[in-house]
Amino acid sequence: MARAEDFGQEVMNCRELLEQLNQYVDGDIDPALCEEIERHLADCDPCQVMVDTLRKTITIYKNGRPLELPPGFHKRLHQTLRAHWKQTHRTP
Ligand SMILES: [Zn+2]
Repeated sequence: MARAEDFGQEVMNCRELLEQLNQYVDGDIDPALCEEIERHLADCDPCQVMVDTLRKTITIYKNGRPLELPPGFHKRLHQTLRAHWKQTHRTP
């Protein structure tokens, strides 16, 4: 449970965003959290690209046939995201 204080800074950092994206991918995200993500994206180009890619992926499977995500799909996706993040974000 995140209290308001936990999001009291300007925006969540990239790592937090990545964690929230897990929920985003699963289609089960708090609208308030969505706002936090949007706010982060406004200032963070690499994350924008990431989420855009995610959205396309989600759209493809939602508009396509009823999908069964292959086993390990999420894991692979998240690994890819993390690898990308490491390249584009130098977080201490
Ligand atoms: Zn970011």
